[in-house]
Amino acid sequence: MNGMHLCPNCNGKLPLRKFFLVNNFKSVRCPHCGARLVPDKKTNSLIGGIAGFSTALTVGLATVVYYLLGEMYGTLIVLITCLLVIMIYLASVLITRNVVDFKTKNFSNEKN
Ligand SMILES: [Zn+2]
Repeated sequence: MNGMHLCPNCNGKLPLRKFFLVNNFKSVRCPHCGARLVPDKKTNSLIGGIAGFSTALTVGLATVVYYLLGEMYGTLIVLITCLLVIMIYLASVLITRNVVDFKTKNFSNEKN
């Protein structure tokens, strides 16, 4: 778990936006050396847990907000829910950034 948000190939710092892609289980490309990076298998399940938890939390909070405010504040509910979704998503990205362990994708084992 060292150098968590650094490229394992060149030690270059990976920009935060790259972690939006990791959250979707995609490989990312290092902007410094061009290496393709994939989350470590151990971290992959952790990312899945974080993504699942944040989705459940978002749906739960949206439901709570809806039932608390009812239909009196329709626009407000939409705004609050949007804000919550954005905040939860950003938080999950930040958590992912702190727990993810990258490894370089080995091309020799794959077909092109
Ligand atoms: Zn790199």
